[in-house]
Amino acid sequence: MAATSGEARFQMRTVYVNGEYRPENEASVSVFDRGFLFADAVYEVTSVLGGRLVDFSAHMARLKRSLAELGLPSPGSEAHLLAIHRELVRRNDLDEGTIYMQVTRGAADRDFLFPSEDTPPSLVLFTQANTLVDKPAARTGLRVISVPDLRWSRRDIKTVQLLYSSMAKTEAKRRGVDDAWMVEDGMVTEGTSNNAHIVAEDGTLVTRALSHSILHGITRAAVLKLAEESDIRIEERSFTIEEAKRAREAFITSASAFVMPVVEIDGTPIGDGKPGPVATRLREIYIRHARDTAI
Ligand code: PMP
Repeated sequence: MAATSGEARFQMRTVYVNGEYRPENEASVSVFDRGFLFADAVYEVTSVLGGRLVDFSAHMARLKRSLAELGLPSPGSEAHLLAIHRELVRRNDLDEGTIYMQVTRGAADRDFLFPSEDTPPSLVLFTQANTLVDKPAARTGLRVISVPDLRWSRRDIKTVQLLYSSMAKTEAKRRGVDDAWMVEDGMVTEGTSNNAHIVAEDGTLVTRALSHSILHGITRAAVLKLAEESDIRIEERSFTIEEAKRAREAFITSASAFVMPVVEIDGTPIGDGKPGPVATRLREIYIRHARDTAI
C-alpha cells in the first residue's frame, strides 16, 4: 500500500508480528513484553540483494546459539523463519535492504524472574529498504573515534541490549564522524554495530579472535574465508588503536555494510587517508559471494 503526500512518497510496510502480517501502523506488541521491559530478547539482521537473502543459514545458526545461551524458547524451525522472511520480501517488494527479526521471552507480568517455560516467545520481523551495494561511503571510507567499551561481557550473544552502542554511535555523529570503535583493556573490541579489522604493514589481515568480548559476525566469518581463498594472510589477535592508526588499512564488516573501509581513527588518517586496495577488493569479492549464494 503506497500513500502520496506532496513530494514525499511514503511506503507503508507490511510487518510480521506473532503469526500475522499487518500494516506497520496496525502492528503491536504487549506493554508487558520482556523485550520491552528487560531487553530479554535476541535478534538477527539479514541483508537482501536482488530480493534474495544473504548468508541466511549462518544468521539462523547464530540465532539458535543466542537463544540457547539465554534459555529463550525457539520461535520455529529454520524453514518456518525462511518462509516468513521470503513472504516479507514478497509483500514489501523488497529488492535491496535488510530484514530485522527479533525473538523475545514473550509477555508476562513484570518480574525479574523468568516467566514459566510455556510462555510463548514473541516474534517480530520487518523490512528496511536500503541501498547496500552502491554506497558513497565505500568510495570515501568511514571516519571513526575510539570510546571505552562499557557493554556487558556477553557480546557474543546478539541481544537487543544496544543502548551503549547507540550512545557511542550518536556521540561519534555529534563529533562529526561516522562511527566509534570500542576499546577494552587497551585493545579494540569492535565497532558499535560491526566487526573491526586492520591490514598490517606486511599485508596481513589482523582481526580480533572470537570470544565472549565480541559478536561473532556472520560477515566477518564469510570475509575471512574469502580472504583466505584469495591468499591473504590472516592473524586472529587483538590490536590497539595505536597499531590501527599505523596500519596500512582499516575496515569494518557487517551484514548491512558488507565490507567498508575506515580511513581515519581519532583524527589520524590511515595509510594515505583513502580506502585501501585490500578493503576495496574484499568488498567486491564479498558482494559477488553474497549475490552468488543468496537464497
Ligand atoms: N558486532 C556488533 C556489535 C554488531 O552489532 C554487528 C552487527 N549486528 C556485528 C558485529 C556484525 O555482525 P554481522 O556481520 O553478523 O552483521
